[in-house]
This record gives sequence, C-alpha cells and structure tokens, in this order.
Amino acid sequence: MSQENIRIIIAGPRGKMGKEAVKMVTDTEHFTLQAVVDTKNAGKKLSELEDQPNLDIPVYDDFITCINEVDADVLIDLTKPESGKKHLEAALENGVRPVIGTTGFTDEEIRNYSSIAEEKEIGAVIAPNFAVGAILMMKFAQMAAKYMPDIEIIEKHHDQKLDAPSGTAVKTAQMIKEVRQSQTQGHPDEKEEMKGARGADDDGLRIHSVRLPGLVAHQEVLLGTTGQTLSIKHDTIDRSAFMPGVKMAVETVMKLDMLVYGLENLME
Ligand code: NAP
Repeated sequence: MSQENIRIIIAGPRGKMGKEAVKMVTDTEHFTLQAVVDTKNAGKKLSELEDQPNLDIPVYDDFITCINEVDADVLIDLTKPESGKKHLEAALENGVRPVIGTTGFTDEEIRNYSSIAEEKEIGAVIAPNFAVGAILMMKFAQMAAKYMPDIEIIEKHHDQKLDAPSGTAVKTAQMIKEVRQSQTQGHPDEKEEMKGARGADDDGLRIHSVRLPGLVAHQEVLLGTTGQTLSIKHDTIDRSAFMPGVKMAVETVMKLDMLVYGLENLME
C-alpha cells in the first residue's frame, strides 16, 4: 500500500542539518518539498543555492509569507533557537505541523506550546536529539541501570562545543535517575588528587566530558557490578545520522493531535 504524500517546508536549508534534510526529503518518495525558508535568498529557486539539488522549489525569506502562499502539511525547522520558536508558534497558529530540531526550550515554553497544539488539535514534535541510536543508548542505559546502579558516563565531542556536560549526557542521567536510587560510588574515602579527576557528580553518578578536535558526538555509558561491566556506546559520525529520526518525526507528526517533546517519546 502506498503511503500518503506529505507536503513539507524546510527552514534553514543552507545549514549543515538543513542540507541533509533537503536531501532526505527529496529522496523520500512520499515526501514533497514545497518550499524552503532562507533569510538570505528570497525570490530564488532552490537550484540557485550552492550545493542544492537542481529543483524548481521557491525560496522565501519569511515563514509567514511562505505558508500564506504555499500549501504544506509539515514544517521542518533546523535554524536557530529564536527562529525555531517563532516558526513553531506560527506553524501551530496556521495549521502546519511543526517538527523542530532547534534546542533551548524552557519547560514553561513547552507547556505553552503544548496547550496551543492541544487547543488546535494539531500534532507537533520538538526533538533536541534526532539520532535514533542515541535515544536507544539512553533507553538501554536506563534499562540496565535498574540492575547495575554504579554508572559512569563518558561523553566526547568536538572542541567547538561550548557546554559541558552535553545535553545528551544530562538527559541520560535524568532517565537513569528515574530508576536508580541516589547512591555514592567509588571508595567512601576516595580523594581527588587533581580537581575534576572523578568527573561531575550527579546523585553519585559520574559524568566525564572529553573535548578534542576530530571528534563529532560520542557517548559511552559504563555500568559495573561484581565481576562484570557493561558498556553501551553510541557514535555520531556525521549529520546524516539525524535524518532517520527527522523522517520518523515527520511521518508520526501527521498522526498526532498534541505536542510531543523528545524523540524517545515517539519510540516504543
Ligand atoms: P548551521 O549550519 O549553523 O545552520 C543553521 C542555518 O539556519 C543557517 O543556514 C542559517 O542561515 C539558518 N537560519 C538562521 N535563522 C534563520 C531564519 N530565521 N530563517 C531561515 N533560516 C535561518 O547549524 P546546524 O548544525 O545545521 O544546526 C541547525 C540547528 O539544529 C541548530 O539549532 C542546532 O543546535 C540544531 N541541531 C539539532 C540536532 C537534533 O538532533 N535535533 C542535531 C544537530 C543540530 P545563516 O547562515 O544566514 O545564519
């Protein structure tokens, strides 16, 4: 049975994620790219933008103008936190289902956007991490933590990353804490001879952040108990890693009538 066609607008097509999204959408049989939003190339066609497919798709510099002129089911936003929020709100108000990949949403903002989505009975997805493998790593770590509560997380990223620990490490620790009792780890009398040697302490669970050129985004969750260790590891090698998650979010958002925050909540 052929799948129903989904008409899509992409905001941020020139970005590293946006380029991958254009490729994924144009390569997917039941997806149609209707338009893109790029503040610097209004009035052009996608084919006139560098490194883009030779397609006669219109470029708008403003999302509102775009949705007034183009019929679309879904917005994929891979821009910046401020524009991501603006586009999310405009999409909900105008009956376009948003799939948002930008980060930085507060709990209050999520509650606010959730009530708009509920009131309008429209699906929306905000996913700070679209890498399906990273979500599975977190879920497997949570599953294992129930039986092996001594845990150290080692996350490794490129040296341009500004925050430490990574959002994924923090989220992993949060999910683990849902099943793990608060406890200290290591020897009760252990002493750090060098500051930071034992990493950050989150309820006794330790998080270590490594920053080096050459790395992309990697995380290992190490669990230990008597006579055995378990290691759960995920590596993101390039941004194409995020696209199966974006595709899944686009397909799922069509069936939702509420906002879902986090790809893990779309994966059974
Ligand atoms: P990037 O290469 O800097 O791309 C961002 C693009 O968005 C740029 O081309 C930028 O254009 C454009 N842009 C900014 N404001 C815009 C607006 N109002 N309308 C249309 N386009 C606009 O960044 P990236 O690595 O692709 O990441 C994009 C976003 O996704 C970031 O917020 C990042 O944190 C997030 N991200 C999410 C995931 C996930 O799994 N959810 C993974 C990686 C990254 P200019 O060059 O003109 O500024």
